[in-house]
Amino acid sequence: MTMQESLAPQKETMGFQTEVSKLLHLMIHSLYSNPEIFLRELISNASDAADKLRFEALSRQELLADDAELGIWIDVDQDAGTLTLRDNGIGMSRDEVIQNLGTIARSGTSEFMKNLTGDEKKDSQLIGQFGVGFYSAFVVADKVVLTTRRADTTAAEGVRWESEGTGEFSVETIEQVARGTTITLHLREASREFADSWRVRNIIHKYAEHIALPVHLKAPAEKEDEVAAYEVVNQAKALWSRPRTEIKDDEYKAFYKHIAHDFEDPLTWSHNKVEGKLEYTSLLYVPGRAPFDLYQREGVRGLKLYVQRVFIMDDAEQFMPLYLRFIKGVIDSNDLPLNVSRELLQSSDVIDSMKSALTKRALDMITKLADDKEAYAKFYAMFGQVLKEGLAEDSSNQEKIAKLLRFASTASDDQSASVALADYVARMKEGQNTIYFLTADNYTTASQSPHLELFRKKGVEVLLLVDRIDEWMMSYLREFDGKSFQHIGKGEVDLSAINGAEDTEPAVSEEQTQQATALVERLKQSLGERVKEVRVTNRLSESPTCLVLDAFDPGLQMRQLMEAAGQKLPDVKPILEINPTHSLINQLANEGDEARFADLAAVLLDQAALAEGGQLEDPAAYVRRIQRLLQA
Ligand code: ADP
Ligand code: MG
Repeated sequence: MTMQESLAPQKETMGFQTEVSKLLHLMIHSLYSNPEIFLRELISNASDAADKLRFEALSRQELLADDAELGIWIDVDQDAGTLTLRDNGIGMSRDEVIQNLGTIARSGTSEFMKNLTGDEKKDSQLIGQFGVGFYSAFVVADKVVLTTRRADTTAAEGVRWESEGTGEFSVETIEQVARGTTITLHLREASREFADSWRVRNIIHKYAEHIALPVHLKAPAEKEDEVAAYEVVNQAKALWSRPRTEIKDDEYKAFYKHIAHDFEDPLTWSHNKVEGKLEYTSLLYVPGRAPFDLYQREGVRGLKLYVQRVFIMDDAEQFMPLYLRFIKGVIDSNDLPLNVSRELLQSSDVIDSMKSALTKRALDMITKLADDKEAYAKFYAMFGQVLKEGLAEDSSNQEKIAKLLRFASTASDDQSASVALADYVARMKEGQNTIYFLTADNYTTASQSPHLELFRKKGVEVLLLVDRIDEWMMSYLREFDGKSFQHIGKGEVDLSAINGAEDTEPAVSEEQTQQATALVERLKQSLGERVKEVRVTNRLSESPTCLVLDAFDPGLQMRQLMEAAGQKLPDVKPILEINPTHSLINQLANEGDEARFADLAAVLLDQAALAEGGQLEDPAAYVRRIQRLLQA
């Protein structure tokens, strides 16, 4: 103890951290439609407190003392309008109380606060996505009194915390014999329903049926002189330890809500008991919604780890690869030592083989989900982009991951990603050995791209990849089902071997190409450094020009991605392809005025860039040229 702490005044009043006040305000606004969540959160905290005590008692048996039956005791007082929860878990010291119930300590929470927009409606939705925690008590209570004593302190070191949730709280050192925490909620007028023991019993069934801790509720006395007694309301048995066949879907769903602090049902789950060399039970869930911190480096992820039913830690990240960070669940191992630490988890063969087995389980679960088109579309919209990271991160499961990908395609006007690679392969033309794709910023740009002209004409399907990471992702995916991939905006395109195609005529004849030789030379001269090459196209039929990159040059998406990551790629000059069958190109060939030729050439180059969704280096120059051409 430092000097300052030992001199802490008996009772002091302190202000909540600004963020807490903001959070409280938001919470009351966002949870009024679902206020019962507070009880789930407080029970969950008591359950965490019991887990922590059990864990500390592994090495210090005396902490359990003569009070080894851990549990939660709830009672309501309808006349007083109060609801009281008591647990005999780990408890808190005075410093911990101030830290935990006055500030926002978790890094995830402050990240969350940074994400707030100030738009109350949007922010309210955001808060729903985030574990709501202790402060949710103020949704239903206008005064909360908490007394607590930490397991390893003396009765003289009890603490009383009190607040009305409006800016400040008080803390006081008190005498408290019992270990653990008692929370009394003075219910708001509008929340008096929570002083009704039937209502409370139902909520316990709903959210706490399967936490491994008994929840006792005081039943109202039947007769005047009878003493009301507590009874255990929940099953108090770890859900995952029960046989799969005995567990109802609703029970799985409720358990998910408990561990994930979610309001919504999970999309699917997978429950497995593994026996043999390694023994463990896993229960994995795909959430029904994406967490707010899905794309943040420090975002909360991982599974809840138990060893032989004893809770060890939350957010154990080592059991899932990064690209499956959205998976929630529980893992209960029989092989790991009870004193396993995060450090130990980082370098263990046992963990490695568990991780690879769990990864397969998770991918299989997602594969199964794909049978349900509607659910999978929902999944893919939320997590598809994260899953794509797996192609780079996990080459051993590339095939499995590739099967899970979905894209838009020229085969239909459906803008959503709904075509699987297997669908594409099934539709491939005779003689076609390549899966063709195009990347662009958005669906419209992709579907209108001049690069598609020849493919459309020949009836060859092209996948339209419009996620910002798609070009990057495709650099890791070399083949699928024995077929290679080609970006149709890069390198040479040759569809001549495709027999089944409706039109086997080349877009531009040999003769037309010959005749354009002089024009190609003239354009090269005129455009100079701006292009790598000018050549006659074999992929256009309607547009005058398009831009092409060499097979291994990074495209627009890749550049944007790298720049966003703070890396500037060296400039790559495009290849300008011209379509000699187009009247504009004809006009250009016949242009005698050199200045006008230069303007036309530059405009055609710029327009080819615009058609791809690119940006002009010098928009003002483009506008001046157009104006000159219009005036002539
Ligand atoms: P979270 O549970 O996600 O950490 P909460 O807002 O629910 O966030 O709780 C904040 C912290 O307060 C907890 O992490 C815990 O340290 C402490 N706490 C809350 N309730 C209890 C309790 N019943 N017993 C011991 N500690 C508690
Ligand atoms: Mg909590």
